[in-house]
Amino acid sequence: MSKATLDQQYDYIIAGAGAAGLSLAWKMIHSPLSDKKTLVIDNELEPTNTKTWCFWESGAPPFSDIIHKKWTHTKIGTSQKHFSQPLNEYPYYCIRKIDFQRKIHQAIRSHPHFTLAEEQITTLESHSDSAILHTNDHSYQAEYIFQSCFPLHPQKKQAPKHPLWQHFLGWEITVEEPLFDPQVFTLMDFDDSFCDGIAFMYILPWSATSALIEYTIFSERVEEQSFYEDKISLYLNNQFNLRPIDYQINRQELGKIPMQDLLAKPWYKPRILNIGTSSGRTKPSTGYTFQRIQQQTKNLVTNLNKTGTPDPQPPSAFRYKAYDLWLLHIIHTSPQKALTVFKQLFTNNSADDLFRFLGEQSTFRQDLSIMSSVPYAPFLKAIWNTRNRLWQIFKNYLLRN
Ligand SMILES: Cc1cc2nc3c(=O)[nH]c(=O)nc-3n(C[C@H](O)[C@H](O)[C@H](O)COP(=O)(O)OP(=O)(O)OC[C@H]3O[C@@H](n4cnc5c(N)ncnc54)[C@H](O)[C@@H]3O)c2cc1C
Repeated sequence: MSKATLDQQYDYIIAGAGAAGLSLAWKMIHSPLSDKKTLVIDNELEPTNTKTWCFWESGAPPFSDIIHKKWTHTKIGTSQKHFSQPLNEYPYYCIRKIDFQRKIHQAIRSHPHFTLAEEQITTLESHSDSAILHTNDHSYQAEYIFQSCFPLHPQKKQAPKHPLWQHFLGWEITVEEPLFDPQVFTLMDFDDSFCDGIAFMYILPWSATSALIEYTIFSERVEEQSFYEDKISLYLNNQFNLRPIDYQINRQELGKIPMQDLLAKPWYKPRILNIGTSSGRTKPSTGYTFQRIQQQTKNLVTNLNKTGTPDPQPPSAFRYKAYDLWLLHIIHTSPQKALTVFKQLFTNNSADDLFRFLGEQSTFRQDLSIMSSVPYAPFLKAIWNTRNRLWQIFKNYLLRN
């Protein structure tokens, strides 16, 4: 039963207006679903420049009018060398959260059937033919709720066996003299001295004099803020000969993204569908999520249009789930071997081939070619050690609803 009397009835409610909620709202507005009465609700609607969403794309990028920056080359760094590769097929793009929010908030606010509300959601309740969203002051009912605001709380059997995080802190800096090549972003400049997991510097140059420099770790334990800051400051000194007085820090970006073998459930409760990170959309072995959210919300709108019922699709084909699990196992149990795997992946393959593989657009033959470019032994061990977990993941696929 609802705790309060219903304030409004909707066809759909989008609970959480982050990357997934706003992507879904945008696609609904540009589909026949735009005549459905829809509420989009979040506890914080003020646009903020706190995230940069990057992704690679072979065709036209989504939200092309707010692409903040495009790169046509990528650089990889190891202790032995730095080398750059062209991105002929998969350029790399960046969208700033602040631009994304402004664009989609404006579209929602100017639409007659869509409402944007700023409220703290307290609970989501499910009934046989409807779902109810409660805030401190109101209750709203809809046929379906799409939620990205509550994380998954897996039962013991579903909990990840490899509970890794991709955690990072970045400084957006400006310098006086031209220093960066604005065409080339650094995907990974490995920190060989780090042994608790995998660590590297990720660099997005906005111009010759401005860049986001991010120290990123794949491991179980998030560090104190000063740990990442010390690493960045040391890197700026060693790599670019910059002392703290030589640069200005304009912005800081920090966060953590799950890299886990979670058995994600598509439904939060009946009639309440998980979307975005809450639905396990993050690619476990890389942390990339934004493009996968675009695919998820596109499929969702197509299904809703066709059948009136959301039909959640698994985030990945099963074989990619297996590859992700094996790589997570190696990162978690043998980080030094994982470091070798990463380095060989980048040394022995073109960046386009790797992006096709990591974007799950490769053929099985192309997968085999990528796999033959890295040492076999850690993978054979991972395949054997994760066999029971893989079986659980497979069963979860069969029972996904
Ligand atoms: C700093 C950062 C950078 C990232 N960069 C990239 C990248 O470059 N490329 C990439 O592919 N992925 C990236 N990711 C991963 C992923 O794309 C993002 O986390 C993305 O925002 C996930 O979208 P989401 O909608 O699932 O969650 P969110 O965007 O976090 O949206 C959830 C929304 O729910 C709201 N909410 C939560 N609780 C409540 C409540 N109780 N009541 C009301 N509202 C609530 C929040 O305010 C938020 O707006 C990044 C993640 C972080 C943290």
